[in-house]
Amino acid sequence: METVSTATPAWTRDTVKGEKRDLWTAMKRGFRCRCPRCGEGKLFRAFLKVDDHCSACGLDFTPHRADDLPAYLVIVIVGHIVLGAFMAVEATSTLSTWQHVAIWVPLTILLAVALLQPVKGAVIGLQWALYMHGFGGEKDELEPHPGA
Ligand SMILES: [Zn+2]
Repeated sequence: METVSTATPAWTRDTVKGEKRDLWTAMKRGFRCRCPRCGEGKLFRAFLKVDDHCSACGLDFTPHRADDLPAYLVIVIVGHIVLGAFMAVEATSTLSTWQHVAIWVPLTILLAVALLQPVKGAVIGLQWALYMHGFGGEKDELEPHPGA
């Protein structure tokens, strides 16, 4: 007869059996820099430093693997906004080059800084909602090399 251990491993401590994870709700909560599960606890302890766990519901944030994706997404979003706005203004006005530089460079920097944390939060919300990496309750381990 198979014996089942009743001890809960540390990596499953935040896993609630049968919990419903709505993708858009989790991403919206992450975008607001809140916990994707409860929407109450803060997701970040510094600008881009993700907290270890939720202060409200205890969700373990350490399995997230946002890595470079938020930066790539911010580049795509800000690029489309700034380039579209630049082309519209360029086509409808007679601003000089230095006036364009004075408008678009600060706007690009401001938008990038303003969007980086919310986009990272949304990416973490997406990973949690889709049970990615360690958010599904299993260990997130590297696959062994095929030759090993
Ligand atoms: Zn929470």
